[in-house]
Amino acid sequence: MTTDTNGAGASHRTTALLDAPRGWLAGLSLLLLLVVPIGHAADDLLTAEERLWLNSHPDIRIGPDPDFPPIEYVDDEGVYRGIAADYVSLLEKKLGIEFQIIVLPSWDAVLAQAQSHDIDMFGAAAATPQREQYMNFTAPHFELPGVIIVSAEVGQNLSLNDLRGMKVAVASGYVWQELIERDHPEIVLEPVPDVLTGLKRVSFGTVDAMVANLAIATHYIEKSGITNLRVAGESGYFGRYAFGVRKDWPELNAIIEKALATITPAERDTILKKWVTLGGKKSVLESRTFWISFLSSMALLSVLAILWWNWSLRRQVDRRTAALRKEYSQRKRAEQAYDHSEQRYRTLFNSASDGVFMLRNGVFDDCNDAAAIMFGCSREQFIGQSPSYYSPPCQPDGSDSHEKADALIVGCLDGTPQLFEWQHRRLDDTLFDAEVSLNAHTEYGQEYILAIVRDITERKRVERLKDEFISTVSHEIRTPLTAIRGSLGLVTGGVTGSLSEKTTEILNIAYKNTERLLLLVDDLLNLQKLESGTIHLEPRQIELAAFLEQAISANQSYGDQYRVKYQLGSAPAITVMADYDRLMQVMNNLLSNAAKFSPEGGRVDVSAEQRGSMVRVSVEDHGPGIPHQFRPQVFDRFTQANSSDTRQRGGTGLGLNITRSIIELHGGSIGFHTTLGVGSEFYFELPIAATNNKTV
Ligand code: ADP
Repeated sequence: MTTDTNGAGASHRTTALLDAPRGWLAGLSLLLLLVVPIGHAADDLLTAEERLWLNSHPDIRIGPDPDFPPIEYVDDEGVYRGIAADYVSLLEKKLGIEFQIIVLPSWDAVLAQAQSHDIDMFGAAAATPQREQYMNFTAPHFELPGVIIVSAEVGQNLSLNDLRGMKVAVASGYVWQELIERDHPEIVLEPVPDVLTGLKRVSFGTVDAMVANLAIATHYIEKSGITNLRVAGESGYFGRYAFGVRKDWPELNAIIEKALATITPAERDTILKKWVTLGGKKSVLESRTFWISFLSSMALLSVLAILWWNWSLRRQVDRRTAALRKEYSQRKRAEQAYDHSEQRYRTLFNSASDGVFMLRNGVFDDCNDAAAIMFGCSREQFIGQSPSYYSPPCQPDGSDSHEKADALIVGCLDGTPQLFEWQHRRLDDTLFDAEVSLNAHTEYGQEYILAIVRDITERKRVERLKDEFISTVSHEIRTPLTAIRGSLGLVTGGVTGSLSEKTTEILNIAYKNTERLLLLVDDLLNLQKLESGTIHLEPRQIELAAFLEQAISANQSYGDQYRVKYQLGSAPAITVMADYDRLMQVMNNLLSNAAKFSPEGGRVDVSAEQRGSMVRVSVEDHGPGIPHQFRPQVFDRFTQANSSDTRQRGGTGLGLNITRSIIELHGGSIGFHTTLGVGSEFYFELPIAATNNKTV
């Protein structure tokens, strides 16, 4: 006996009944058993007597059914295979012995040899009363259901009760025969030599059915390719397969029982799965049913898949449609909102009373209705035109409109919003004054200038009227005021005789107030002239150092009132082109302010220095300085720092405004530095006269 090495599991080389030279082999085995202790596994399992028994029976012969697959069979190579063969292998391992396999031509032959003790054991047989007369049986080591096999044409399911009067094949000598004969004598049994014969007879219709083991029937049908059979139902019997041991060897039966008891459920499971499950699953008996149900299932699945596909497509379409609808209504709403907003801004744009223009690349890109009305042309006539087209060649100050407009646009694009007055030309060549503001902005990466043009013709007219009114009124006031001041001067000077001290004091107050009024009127007249542009400068060469000395001496008496001393510091020999009286007016204002705000006994420093092409004249005092919050308004009209101190010092709040206008009229600039508690320095810069360059 050997173990097969093909990996298919336990198998046994078998010995044909007639070719076994068993005499010498048995002797050798006995010798070996005496000399060599058998596998230790058995030592744990068996008692000494049992081992002794085994040792004294070295040749235990098993007679398998040669053709009872997958329960047991002998393959073409003469190897013992099947469920029983695997159990035999396991027993060999557990007991530490080897069985002898005796191959007989049929199961009937096996039964006969068992009765005559020419074999000692069955590997797998059902314990029937007949067999129990000459064999002991162990507990069944596995069981398989008996099924009723019929032609595939028989549609209904059947039990043994339904087979009354029918011809039913059973393998001769198999357990089913004995059981059916006992329980169902009404069935006409047709014993056949083997399972395959019975199946063929059912297939050909010579018997109505066969009762056989499902696993065995499946095996044969697969092998033979019979396709017109089906399992109609279970017989209700199970083939319980046990080891059979000759009746006169109860010791061996006990030993086998013991060994069987050590077989684990996992080992049993492995064997059964190897031989039965697969065979059962691969059953061709059910192939048609299987295929019909398989194909029906597939068809059903296909239909379901198509239905699902349609449904999911419809759902997708519905979803997409809903999403599109939502998207569409959102877009529609956004468009409406945009239209609404566009409409609103267009209305605002067009209903503005000022002319609004968009300038792009130096030309008009768009304008509102007011602009078109203001210039007496259509919107289309504006688009593409440059601003200077709607301006006279020169502005009132004599500057070139084109150049000046370019400079303003460049300034705006450089980031400084521009606000200026401009003389425009309508399409019919009439002119009008406008106040223009320019603001640059970027839209979609493109720079635009937003120009707002306000027609100030009316404002200008009113301003002119006001100026004329002020001028007239001032002159009308000034003349009698001058006469009053002159008369008061004469009276206080004693021309009309001596006056009492009290009268002199009252007249002095009247004189001073008349002077203040005259000063105010003068300031107003100056202001009006400067604003209306009616002031006429009479420039001449002024030698600066000498001029400053004259200014100091002219103002010293005023300084004396505050016990303040004017001091001239460095002054370069520089000539400026200026209106002497106006420049003196500037110095008067700065020197009087410095004296007014100096501490008593203080000093005011006057100096001049050249700064490039300009000369800077400074008047520096050591007074209280100018409060922070007032600094931005120092040059505004009618403004004074809000302190009682300032009020007490008098003044109109017009002096610095007039001073700045005069300096700017001369092409210069004015500014100041101030530190609280330290003092203030007011300065102005004027261009140096061209003659200086010639002399230098
Ligand atoms: P006013 O005729 O009132 O002097 P100005 O225009 O000359 O008008 O001056 C305006 C105001 O500026 C003054 O009232 C004063 O508050 C402030 N101010 C001018 N010069 C000085 C100075 N040197 N020191 C301090 N404050 C000065």
